[in-house]
Amino acid sequence: MTKKTAWGLGIGLVLVGLLSAFLLSPRFEFIVGGGLVNLGYRLQDRLSHFDFEHDESITPDQIWAELERQNELAAGVRAFFPRTERHPVVAILACMDARIDTSELVGDTRRYYYIVRTAGSVLSPAEQEMLELAVLNGVKIILLTTHTDCAAEDAAADPELREDFPALTALMDERARRVEEFMARPTIREAIAAGELQVRHARIDTRTDRLVVEEVHHDAH
Ligand SMILES: [Zn+2]
Repeated sequence: MTKKTAWGLGIGLVLVGLLSAFLLSPRFEFIVGGGLVNLGYRLQDRLSHFDFEHDESITPDQIWAELERQNELAAGVRAFFPRTERHPVVAILACMDARIDTSELVGDTRRYYYIVRTAGSVLSPAEQEMLELAVLNGVKIILLTTHTDCAAEDAAADPELREDFPALTALMDERARRVEEFMARPTIREAIAAGELQVRHARIDTRTDRLVVEEVHHDAH
């Protein structure tokens, strides 16, 4: 066997191995898919040239035209890869801080979660109802998160900022009470008691994306 044939055979075996792994292991396929999408994100992360907001001469019309163009491209790709029609079983509450990417947090590129984003992770009555609807639609885990380096938490802790942002800081003062209010909702209590739902708490390390699970005692229990 020549050196060239041996190389060809080796590469062929690796390809066959990868193909078999794909066909035999959905988990392998899931991880490789996540890796490839991550590669896409990581390639884009550095491209500050495409940041609309840092080009001060750009007009709203130009920004809108670019956004529409990008959506056209994205929707064209989506048409070839329709989503799964199954309902999500996890709902995540997260602060609206742009650095929190709920899909990256769980390594899932399909956006296969109900996501509620609010200022400072506060569960206002409308969001409570939204999550209750999600439970009625089959959600079995609700993950209530807060995160490190949260601007809303910082504002609530700073007397001067409290004066400048009275509505936001008043909301933050209610955050824990709003969670208790949610836990006391009959649908939520019944689903938990029946073992059909868990409400979990975690603090997101904003820098590393790591979820630090927290034990929270609820008065309603
Ligand atoms: Zn925040």
